Amino acid sequence: MSAKLISPYLTSGYEWLRGNLHTHTTRSDGSQDPEPTARMYADAGYGFLCISDHDTLTWPIAGPDGLVLIPGLEVAGGPHILAVNVERPIGKDQSRQAVIDEAVAAGGIAVLNHPNWGFDFNHFPQDQLEALRGHVGIEIYNGVVDALEGSALATDRWDQLLSRGLHAWGFAHDDLHDERLFARGWLMAQVTERTRDGVIEALRRGRFYASTGVDIRRITVRADTISIEAPRAQRIRFIGAWGRLLHEADDWEAGYRIGGREGAYVRIECLGRGGRCAWSQPIYIVREDDDQAEGGR
Ligand SMILES: [Zn+2]
Repeated sequence: MSAKLISPYLTSGYEWLRGNLHTHTTRSDGSQDPEPTARMYADAGYGFLCISDHDTLTWPIAGPDGLVLIPGLEVAGGPHILAVNVERPIGKDQSRQAVIDEAVAAGGIAVLNHPNWGFDFNHFPQDQLEALRGHVGIEIYNGVVDALEGSALATDRWDQLLSRGLHAWGFAHDDLHDERLFARGWLMAQVTERTRDGVIEALRRGRFYASTGVDIRRITVRADTISIEAPRAQRIRFIGAWGRLLHEADDWEAGYRIGGREGAYVRIECLGRGGRCAWSQPIYIVREDDDQAEGGR
């Protein structure tokens, strides 16, 4: 049985750009005004930022040079949805599918937020996650939930979606409300141009990874082998369908050869010091006798 690997990552002609898409300011329940918030991210070396106040479009913003600002908001009225790259507000009193459809119709992308937030660890019920279409993915790490009830991590939800053949990229965000939440979770995107369109294109296509403090230098796919280099990682884990651990190495670089028990994807976690992690996007496996591998995309 021959397998073809489909990686979202570029191997040349890009630069890594760091960004956060989930940020509150004084326009909703954040502690800082929009402009100083943008400056704080730019000063820390971020290349893109979406200010996503609750049900409020904070736009336009006078941003510092070199920081790509993206308009957006976080839509409540049910489990929260980030609408990114939209220049008009989106009403909260409608179905979650209608929120996604409206964001997409406005030229944006939608991300399903902090699924495991709350006393019941169930802000976004799994059956609802699995029923929604047209979003680009889910938050697999959300910084504010680290200090609230529930779990900041949601790779358990992600593996269920991916294993059912649904397409979702994994996002990590600060969900900044005050400075203590600054730089807890971020994205590193492979952009071919340092513009709003360049960033959104990378996010749509999954040309990014999510991180809480580990950098990935390179992910390459050759024939049936996936290789990764993450200079400050101490352990690398290759994970397949239903969250199954396929291979792990106590090293900063590692490779994995497709063997047949992965299911439809492999994703990689790079663990570093102090519980820090970088999460790759799924690399899809299309087997010759299996054209279901990309179902639901
Ligand atoms: Zn939020």
